[in-house]
Amino acid sequence: MTDQIPVGIEPGVAPSGAGCVECEADGGWWVHLRRCAQCGHIGCCDTSPAQHATAHFNESGHPIVQSFEPGEDWFWDYAREVGVLGPELAGPQNHPEDQGVPGPADRVPEDWRDRING
Ligand SMILES: [Zn+2]
Ligand SMILES: [Zn+2]
Repeated sequence: MTDQIPVGIEPGVAPSGAGCVECEADGGWWVHLRRCAQCGHIGCCDTSPAQHATAHFNESGHPIVQSFEPGEDWFWDYAREVGVLGPELAGPQNHPEDQGVPGPADRVPEDWRDRING
């Protein structure tokens, strides 16, 4: 048995922040957050209006994300479209509980259910 770390996972890289990088820049909001396991970019999931996590994969080629939701530690490989196993990444492991889902709480519109994907 080896402890080889999959390509695309850099365990020592801290997350970029508590919220989606691009949504924070343009005042957007999200449903769930995904953390790039390679560079730490936090992006919003495909249910979110702007889908910045997938956009980050398409732009950077970084293939693996980990859920940034409290209580979730699964990894997803966009390139192979499979779940993968990985090591514990540098903390924090998820966004603050009081940020809300969807979040951030102070920017989510009342009609958010009509604005999400899928
Ligand atoms: Zn976003
Ligand atoms: Zn990345």
